[in-house]
Parts: sequence; C-alpha cells; structure tokens
Amino acid sequence: MPGKLVLIGCGPGGVDLLTIRAARRIAQADLVLYDRLVDPEVVALAGEGVECRYVGKGCSDGGVQQADINTRLRAALLEGRFVARLKSGDPMVFGRAAEEIAVAAETGAAVEIIPGVTAGLAAASDALITVTERAELQSFVMTTGRAAESDAQPDWASIVKPGVCAAFYMAVAQAWRIQSVLMKAGVPGNAPADWIERAGQAEVRTIPTRLDRLALDAKTNTVTNPAILLVRYPMSLAKACDVDVPDLKRAF
Ligand code: SAH
Repeated sequence: MPGKLVLIGCGPGGVDLLTIRAARRIAQADLVLYDRLVDPEVVALAGEGVECRYVGKGCSDGGVQQADINTRLRAALLEGRFVARLKSGDPMVFGRAAEEIAVAAETGAAVEIIPGVTAGLAAASDALITVTERAELQSFVMTTGRAAESDAQPDWASIVKPGVCAAFYMAVAQAWRIQSVLMKAGVPGNAPADWIERAGQAEVRTIPTRLDRLALDAKTNTVTNPAILLVRYPMSLAKACDVDVPDLKRAF
C-alpha cells in the first residue's frame, strides 16, 4: 500500500497562525519532514515518538538538497508511511511543491495540500497595508528577488505597473537591482515600499520606505531574512506622474 503525502502550509511562523486542519494532519502523521522557516512549536504538534526530520535548505548553510529530500520522501511513501511535509507560508508559493507532488505521484501515494498564510500577506497585515484597494490597486502579485541559478530574473518591470501591489520574496540581497530596474522602467521614486522582517512573528519589524530609497533603507536598517518587500504603484501616483494609463472604457 503506497503511503500518503500531505504538504502543509505552516504560515510565516507563530503557531497561532496555523490552520486547525494543518494541526490535525501534523498530529496524524508518522513521519514529519520540516523546512528551515517552520516554527519549532509547529513541529512539536507531531505525535509522541514520531520521527521529525529537518530537511531545510538554507542559502548559506549548505542544507539538505532537494534531490535528497525527494529520495527520502520516495522511500517513505513506498513504505506506506503518512508523511507530513511542513513548509513555511503556503506550500504552493515558492515552496518547490511541484517536485514533491511529482515524486508522490510516481509512487502512487495520495497527495493532499493544506494551504497556509503566505509571508507576503502576513507582511501586509503587519504593515497595515491592503494589497488591493478600490480605485488604487487592482492586482496583487507575488514575485521573487532570486531566480533559480540558471534562470533569468523575473521581469519586474512588466509586473509593477499602475494599479499593482507586488510582494517580493527572497529580495534582501537583490534590493539594489529591484530598485534600479523599477526606476529605469519609470515607476515613480516616491512609490510606497515597505520591508517587513519576520512577518507574523512576535519579533516582526516593519520599515516603511519608498522606491528610490528601498535599497539604502534595507542596508542602513540591516534588514535580514526572512523578509518581504512590498512595492505599491497606486493609480493616483501614475496619474500624478502623467504615466500613460490605458483608458479601458474607451478601448472596449
Ligand atoms: N512558501 C513560503 C515562501 C518560501 S520562500 C510562503 O508562502 O511564505 C522563502 C521566502 O519567504 C523568504 O526568503 C522570505 O522572503 C519569505 N518569508 C518566509 N517567512 C517569512 C516571514 N515570517 N517574514 C517575512 N518573510 C518571510
């Protein structure tokens, strides 16, 4: 009998942001594999005597490679185990969930996904920012500051358009690049930007800034991971700067 894989979104840290469904599944599992940013109190919800393994991949600590995680997961599922795979935030957002779902599918194991509070939204709550806003922000985009080594950077200039709020994950080391790409693309320097470090946790820190200062402010405030960068380009700012906003009413 093949086992079962449950990919569990554990939120941004702070056990009280965990869903009840997530807590129930963690308690049912007979193997728990958890990532670096998962709160120890969440891992502690595992049943007594259940094997809990750290499989985090820190940027600098070498960490466990995804291929090793996949191998371990495959073996456990073929043994028929009920594996709870704990991921920070939401498992489907920058969580490499696709690879683990594929591994489970190969073994014939059942897969269940439990959503979690993603860091970008926890960050917005901490900074009291609405990521959509009537007449000002119609779209919310989650993007990354760091692409896989072989990939090109995301096309930030075509993401941050009038009416968009963008959450940048893994952005601290790329702050200068993000700032300069967006400014070159014509996003106004006074577009509001916010750094939110340790969103959803007791030690949260929010640093309000603006596009033309966001890299400097990250440096002077020593913003460190885990952190989210929110950049907003409200419609009123585009109009004030005379940016060409297409008149959709006329177009249709
Ligand atoms: N699946 C996760 C994202 C994992 S990628 C989610 O949905 O939230 C890791 C990145 O997420 C970090 O580099 C950081 O940018 C962000 N992150 C994770 N936890 C965070 C937290 N508590 N506060 C701020 N950013 C966080």
